Amino acid sequence: MNTNTRYTYPCLFCGDNTRHRTEEHIIQHGFKNSRCVLDTDVCCHCNTDIFSALDKKLIDFVHTYVYPNHPHISRNRTLLQAGHIIQFDQETRIWRSLQIDRNMKPVLFPQLVFVDKNRIDFYCNSNQNYQKLLNNMKQELVHVDKLSLKELVCQQPDQSLPTIQSAVIRTAPMKYVLRASTNQEVQLLKSQIHNGQLMRQFSQESEPRRKTTQKSELLANLVLERNLINRAIAKSAVNAVCSFLGSQRARNSVLDPIKSFILSDTQDEGERFIQHIWNINRNENTISQKENFTVPGYHTLILASRDRIPTVILSLYERPFALIRLTEDTNFMGEEEIYAGLIDYRSGSHQVLNYQNDPVSFYERFYVNNIQ
Ligand SMILES: [Zn+2]
Repeated sequence: MNTNTRYTYPCLFCGDNTRHRTEEHIIQHGFKNSRCVLDTDVCCHCNTDIFSALDKKLIDFVHTYVYPNHPHISRNRTLLQAGHIIQFDQETRIWRSLQIDRNMKPVLFPQLVFVDKNRIDFYCNSNQNYQKLLNNMKQELVHVDKLSLKELVCQQPDQSLPTIQSAVIRTAPMKYVLRASTNQEVQLLKSQIHNGQLMRQFSQESEPRRKTTQKSELLANLVLERNLINRAIAKSAVNAVCSFLGSQRARNSVLDPIKSFILSDTQDEGERFIQHIWNINRNENTISQKENFTVPGYHTLILASRDRIPTVILSLYERPFALIRLTEDTNFMGEEEIYAGLIDYRSGSHQVLNYQNDPVSFYERFYVNNIQ
């Protein structure tokens, strides 16, 4: 390392002009992004000391919570195979299933948890109509032929905790997940639904107990560390600006606020910059405009103005993931400037399309030949 090196431009993020430069991946290397890099724009301190932790958090979040069932993601499927999280509540010592909505808020599925032989708890969000939901479940579970029953065998994450209790979880109307710690237990739940025994337990016993969810929301928020995740997303957007518009424009002071956010180790979640647009319960019938900017087999980064606000649309695994508002300055980018970075997440190869220079290729890629 030569500390006397002078670079043409200061570090894109911290402004340092002497530290060694290392390759900065435009989107995180963990998303299979091997050759899509900034070579000399980012100093080793930012790249390694600050960004490594952010990148890891974002990759874990995306692979574990956002696209857990994506066919090309095989890592990190621990407790989350069915697109939901199973969380242990310290106070009640009950495992409860929840999902993270697109605002990154934890939402408890309505669920029956088999605490022991004599006790079934019913859980739902505290703002939901407990009685109505429970009645819905009772009515639906009788119509065995029409039910969708998914099986979920959970591995015990920590032997010091109680075994994950069996549960019947309602993920959508008529759609259920049967959760248990062994396949045998899952099959038992299934047969109890099929032969009506589950419903008979209801009529014999008093109503299951109700619990509220305040505790679990707090726990999930702590686990997610939204500040780190959003800083990692913002960093990819600034990297894209540098890659598409060049090193000089990426040093424009209008980007200073978002760079400060990226470097800031605070509780700031950066909601003025980052909007999550992924949806875990994707309804294939509602294709939004944003999905025009996705390409099968690719991650995409689109840089364009929306109402003159320079914005990056980040899609991961061909699905919209986040919108990043880079600055409030409306003069930074022209309306006609549109760039797209496409990263093949299987091979790691990439290409950049510039709408102004080559509108035909741009249109072909996104509107005509939306193919792999
Ligand atoms: Zn730096």
